[in-house]
Amino acid sequence: MTSLTFYGGVNEIGGNKILLEDKDTKVFLDFGKGFSRRAKYFEEYINPRVANGIEDFLTMGLLPDVKGLYRDDLMKMAEREVLEPDIDAVLLSHAHSDHADYISFLHKKIPIYMGETCHLILQAIEERSNRQIEREVLSYREKPTNKKDEPIKRKINTFRTGDKLRIGSLEVEPIHVDHSVPGAYGFIIYTSAGPIGYTGDIRLHGTIPQMTRDFIERAKNEKLVALIMEGTRIADEVKDESEELVSKESKNIVSTTNRLVLADFNFKDVDRLRTFLKVGKDNDRKLVVKMNDAYFLKYLSKDPKLNVPDIDDEDIIIYLPKKGSGKYQDSDYKGRDKEFVSRHNTWNAQEIARNEDKVLCAMGFYSFTALIDMKPEPGATYIHSASEPYNEEQEISQERINAWMDHFGIYKFQCHCSGHARSKDLLQIVEEINPHALYPIHTEHPEIYKRTFKNVMEVIEGRPYSFL
Ligand SMILES: [Zn+2]
Ligand SMILES: [Zn+2]
Repeated sequence: MTSLTFYGGVNEIGGNKILLEDKDTKVFLDFGKGFSRRAKYFEEYINPRVANGIEDFLTMGLLPDVKGLYRDDLMKMAEREVLEPDIDAVLLSHAHSDHADYISFLHKKIPIYMGETCHLILQAIEERSNRQIEREVLSYREKPTNKKDEPIKRKINTFRTGDKLRIGSLEVEPIHVDHSVPGAYGFIIYTSAGPIGYTGDIRLHGTIPQMTRDFIERAKNEKLVALIMEGTRIADEVKDESEELVSKESKNIVSTTNRLVLADFNFKDVDRLRTFLKVGKDNDRKLVVKMNDAYFLKYLSKDPKLNVPDIDDEDIIIYLPKKGSGKYQDSDYKGRDKEFVSRHNTWNAQEIARNEDKVLCAMGFYSFTALIDMKPEPGATYIHSASEPYNEEQEISQERINAWMDHFGIYKFQCHCSGHARSKDLLQIVEEINPHALYPIHTEHPEIYKRTFKNVMEVIEGRPYSFL
């Protein structure tokens, strides 16, 4: 009657795709992109072909080969049978790619449920980036593309904590959790076999641990028949970390210099954004943002709870990169970029360099060519405020970052606090919730949960786990 089948996030970090079936109701919990799985076969110059519709993704196991799930246009191109969708909903926990991005392939009739803030973030992402097949979460263009066709919008339903959703035989309660992106939720789902919990991505050492606590409390009281739980850092050493520490350390670093400062962080991490806004403010420095990141300000400032300034704010400068002629002419900037060119708060590299002690540049590795135009004297500062490299590709990027640092004589610092709970917190959460069975996902080391908890299921991809 009730079952769970895991199609992603199994022995890997991210790519969650969990099918929950109850009587005639079928929902997916997240439908994310599995980065490690994709990287096993593909890299920069070899990608799944769009010209083959959905075939490359299905054949190589990037998407589960399940009937009644995918877009008609992509199935047709792959010469596969086109069917009416057989899924009632997708519940999206948060806006990170490893949970959201492969919604891109789903049939347009499948409704997607997400938090209101999660929706704002996805809107910002859609507006800032070029359309590509693996990033068409909110809307998509039918393939083969006809330029005249308008994008097809998906059915999006938004919720907030406190809402109760009815989907077929299920009642779903989304509960906010603290993670490195706002609008993140866990779910308690009432099935005919009893309540099932899904954590999404969580932490207890972040800015608002109370949100995660609210989820734990609720889950604890419900006597869950199953808890689907993330375990990203279950094997990692516990260290002292918090957003406050990031703020304190960055403030110290910035306060001792009057030279150029670059801060490299993920703009979706609004806690981090606020941290660097504050560090800048406390040191009389305005935050310089890239044009692409300005879209996040545009959307996130609409949510008063997030306390994010709009692009017009006096503390915000938008960086204008060289394009076209390289002379910053109006005609060099096309499409969406145009709106930024003649703003009062848009600066090019030279203007930033002239005011180096008055700015904090939210610019990372991918903007390092700006350094060639800024020509910083040796002694500038680069704060890397993201996770340290954890795979080979990132190691190589790190070496490149170091080479740029050496070339321009820049000091590099590492200040970060993770979006994922520490191992001791994960174990404590399980102990507290004490579910009938634990399904560890979003981790390469699910077995570690067995050391402290007895009812740990060994999750095997594609195998249904039944409850009644
Ligand atoms: Zn994740
Ligand atoms: Zn996440």
